Amino acid sequence: MYNILIMYYYKIYTYGCQMNVHESEKLAGMLKQLNYEETLDDNKADVIVFNTCCIRENAEQHAIGNIGALKPLKKKKKDLIIAVGGCMTQQNGKAEYLKNTFPFVDVIFGTSNLNMFKEYLQKRLKTGKKVVEVIDGNYTIDETVKPYRTSYPNAWVNIMYGCNNFCSYCIVPYVRGREISREPAVILNEVKELVKSGYKEITLLGQNVDSYGKTAHFDYDFADLLTDICKIDGKFRLRFMSNHPKDITKKVVDAISKNDKTCKCIHLPLQSASTKILGLMNRKYTFEDYYDKVKMLKTAVPNCAITTDIMVGFPNETEEDFLDTYNATNDIKFDGAFTFVYSRRNGTKAFDMDGQIDDATKKDRIMRLVELQNAINAQKSTEYVGKTVEVLCEDYDEKRGLYLGRDEFSKMIYFSSEKSLIGEFVMVKITKAGGMSLYGEIGE
Ligand code: SF4
Repeated sequence: MYNILIMYYYKIYTYGCQMNVHESEKLAGMLKQLNYEETLDDNKADVIVFNTCCIRENAEQHAIGNIGALKPLKKKKKDLIIAVGGCMTQQNGKAEYLKNTFPFVDVIFGTSNLNMFKEYLQKRLKTGKKVVEVIDGNYTIDETVKPYRTSYPNAWVNIMYGCNNFCSYCIVPYVRGREISREPAVILNEVKELVKSGYKEITLLGQNVDSYGKTAHFDYDFADLLTDICKIDGKFRLRFMSNHPKDITKKVVDAISKNDKTCKCIHLPLQSASTKILGLMNRKYTFEDYYDKVKMLKTAVPNCAITTDIMVGFPNETEEDFLDTYNATNDIKFDGAFTFVYSRRNGTKAFDMDGQIDDATKKDRIMRLVELQNAINAQKSTEYVGKTVEVLCEDYDEKRGLYLGRDEFSKMIYFSSEKSLIGEFVMVKITKAGGMSLYGEIGE
């Protein structure tokens, strides 16, 4: 008598930010509970999930293209379940559009009810009927949904969901609802368990981590959370993203400075150095406020690396406004910058603003800014050569034949080793700089 074991497989397409990467880990956790195994092959998958993003138009178009491309596979493989979730479906009218454009999609769900995905999938399997459930409102926290983590030795931990800020270019508050913070004890417990099971780098996630706890029933803020996490035994690094310049406080900066486990590396989005443009963006700080926060950080944490986001081509940005941003970038000398061209998102305030900037001007500005930041990156990388830094080995790069990891300032460093060092802290002497990456040798 033979036992025939039938295996079922899933594949998840993830678009957008780190928050979405972690949410895909939760979707994977639910699929694992239903005994599905991961595959990277569409043809082998029994369930394919699209965890979409609508922050930028190209992420949305990419997802739409990939969903459409599955039509022939679904025709061939009738039992294949295709599910689409994430913030694209949460936009006004988008679920209806997806349902009509891609009738072969089986399950459509939103961000606020992501934790219900397992139930929706089971319902589809049981009834054979399409499930379309997109609920308006805030994220529903469900602490029973355990993520299936695939990023060892790094672990992502949400501390809050949603956003209350309504920056005029951003769709997030409309598709992810208002801020809700997780209970401190639940977060502390999750981090404790992660450290106990060997994770070496914990990254706390929130759209605006500095406002953690502000709308909650408890009297406990982000600085308290950082301090308490650092009391957890074991060697690990603590990172967090993103900070908001209007909300980061001296108390948070002091918590970073005092605790060895917090990486001295902060992502503080500038967006623009023109106070006029910051006002139109509804960022609620002036460039002077931002600069004061940078000074506060540099004073309290002298070796602190600061990375940023910068957007060019926002409506009404003049050459003078752009030069304010360019000159501030040159002055502050960020340790890294994600540079973007403003992209019009339907449903946001900025979509209808007069003074939209033409593509040629946007292209010219972004090219000048990128060139400047590349030169700053190259200079900073060169300054690393000869230094010995502690690296958390994260992976092996097949193409280069080298291990790789980051130092506490998030610099990517490649080095060779006879044996796998993934998950270990190693001292690496930097011997060569190449763009944003550094190369080195293991040594004291
Ligand atoms: S802080 Fe602004 S940019 Fe960031 S998620 Fe909230 S609305 Fe969007």
